[in-house]
Amino acid sequence: EDIFAPRKNSRGWNLQDPVELEVFEKGRSLFETKQWTAKPQLAKSTRKKGTPREIVNPADSSDVVGIAWFATSQHVDAAFKHATPWNAPVEERANILRRAADNLEARHSEIFALLTREAGKTAADGIAELREAVDFLRFYADEGESNIGEARGCIITIAPWNFPLAIFLGQIAAALAAGNAVIAKPAEATPLIAALAVEILHKAGVPNTALQNLPGEGPVIGTALTTDPRADGVVFTGSTSTAQIINRNVADALSPHALFIAETGGINCMIVDSTALPQQAVADIIASAFQSAGQRCSALRMLYIQDDIYEPVLKMLTEAMDELALGNPWDMRTDVGPVIDEAARARFSAYIAEADVIHQASDFPDVGHFIQPTLVRVGGRKDMEQEIFGPVLHVAKFNPKEIPAILEDIDSADYALTFGLHTRIDNRVDDITQKLRVGNIYVNRNQIGAVVGSQPFGGSGLSGTGPKAGGPDYLPRFLKKSHTTRDE
Ligand code: GLU
Repeated sequence: EDIFAPRKNSRGWNLQDPVELEVFEKGRSLFETKQWTAKPQLAKSTRKKGTPREIVNPADSSDVVGIAWFATSQHVDAAFKHATPWNAPVEERANILRRAADNLEARHSEIFALLTREAGKTAADGIAELREAVDFLRFYADEGESNIGEARGCIITIAPWNFPLAIFLGQIAAALAAGNAVIAKPAEATPLIAALAVEILHKAGVPNTALQNLPGEGPVIGTALTTDPRADGVVFTGSTSTAQIINRNVADALSPHALFIAETGGINCMIVDSTALPQQAVADIIASAFQSAGQRCSALRMLYIQDDIYEPVLKMLTEAMDELALGNPWDMRTDVGPVIDEAARARFSAYIAEADVIHQASDFPDVGHFIQPTLVRVGGRKDMEQEIFGPVLHVAKFNPKEIPAILEDIDSADYALTFGLHTRIDNRVDDITQKLRVGNIYVNRNQIGAVVGSQPFGGSGLSGTGPKAGGPDYLPRFLKKSHTTRDE
């Protein structure tokens, strides 16, 4: 399989294409000032509306994007009462999910508008995210048809704000394609795009008893959903600490057979040795560490550069950082947008204030929650204990003799998500890829943006548990027992 081939499923939104640029711009002008709403989407509406919450644009704190009505525990009870597994024939379910993918593509202007205004996504990130969302829908539709079995029942899906469309829909699509009922909870910061996505699925034909959506606070709605024995499983993407709480909830309150899948963070490393092509390594470091403002669980956090190329590579890297445009994601030239909220901004800026800073990228706007891409010096991986979920990259120098010790450190750490390697020594590639037990290893390329269907994504240890998303092992876990009808 050619992993570099263009995505086979999505139509391939492409920023180089003037027609699509125009589409993006049109989305901007049409929807820049629109006010959006999200409400609990229940099979049977209750009289309670929920609690209103203003959703603010991370790039401009004065821009209220819309109002979300956060659910209460009464909504949770109503959702469980009406949740009904989707027992339509598997082909019908798959076709409805494919129709939803088509409709998502058709409504790209609104989707780009929301990804940008609600989640702070740049144009490139927004386009990549829409692609990934439609890929998930079409991939799991196919997988549903290839894996026959009985649905588990009612699955709780809890999504992160950093992929508020793609991961939100990926979790839902797998559970639905397998015939389960889903009660979804979007991230607190991104309920508006979730409400639009659920509306699109309902309009495509997903019954409202099979898919309900409850915007709300994690400690209230997330806890109520994951401690209710009527749930047959929980699928979660987000922080490691929340995953640990949910894991305990599932163990205490749900059946011993309940499904639990978690995709969390990582302190992801890259090794660049002196045989690497420096220009390519630098481009891949920039993408891995700073694209999406570093707000990806796959992002590069800890970079090792071999001692004899350390100075020239660092110089190229800092010069490349100076070229990055930081600013409003609506501007097509923007490379790095805001971080998600003020709390994140304050946390990173306090961290940077204490750190041994090597370099910071150019200035940034002061109306939103921005953090400049920053390089920080550390002695070694052990100096870095917590994941910094933003545009902060730690750098260390290494001597080839230290490679076994570095690998040992990575292996003995509790996280195991992505790893990048830049080298032209084939033996080193073989040796490291065989030894390291992390989720996804990327050689001579960047280490983000796993492609649905050809690069299954996920880690182990503190980085998560369960099958990799976008791969062949994922959907069968949503069935009680399954057999595949795929031609192998
Ligand atoms: N699948 C994404 C990637 O490969 C990361 C997902 C996440 O950040 O949760 O970049």
